[in-house]
Amino acid sequence: MAHILVIDDAPHICTVLTKFLLIEGHSVDSAENGAAGLKLFDLNHYDLVITDVVMPKIDGLEVLTALKQKAATVRIIVMSGGAARLDTQLLLRTAQAMGADRVLPKPLDFWKLQIAVKEVLAGVQ
Ligand SMILES: [Mg+2]
Repeated sequence: MAHILVIDDAPHICTVLTKFLLIEGHSVDSAENGAAGLKLFDLNHYDLVITDVVMPKIDGLEVLTALKQKAATVRIIVMSGGAARLDTQLLLRTAQAMGADRVLPKPLDFWKLQIAVKEVLAGVQ
């Protein structure tokens, strides 16, 4: 069992992800943007952070940078469906280059998410 932080500005994604991770046996906190997520990260220990990219206040790439500075060993999964002028694959490749352990396109494939969470928590590179 792991303690996981989910950050996404879409409430239904937070809800679905939280339910999924609870069923998988983890404990979960969620935040509606990067600023709220970083605040929670400062208050609690998390084994894994799953973050969206395109969000108000602090976006997912900024979250990734901040988390790496706060805790170099923190494991991070980045998910994105892009935005009007932002290509999904470009955002995900950028997140990967910035040190994300796994990147997943949206809409989420829960089978791929399940594998990603298991592998990242097991320390699979
Ligand atoms: Mg978003």
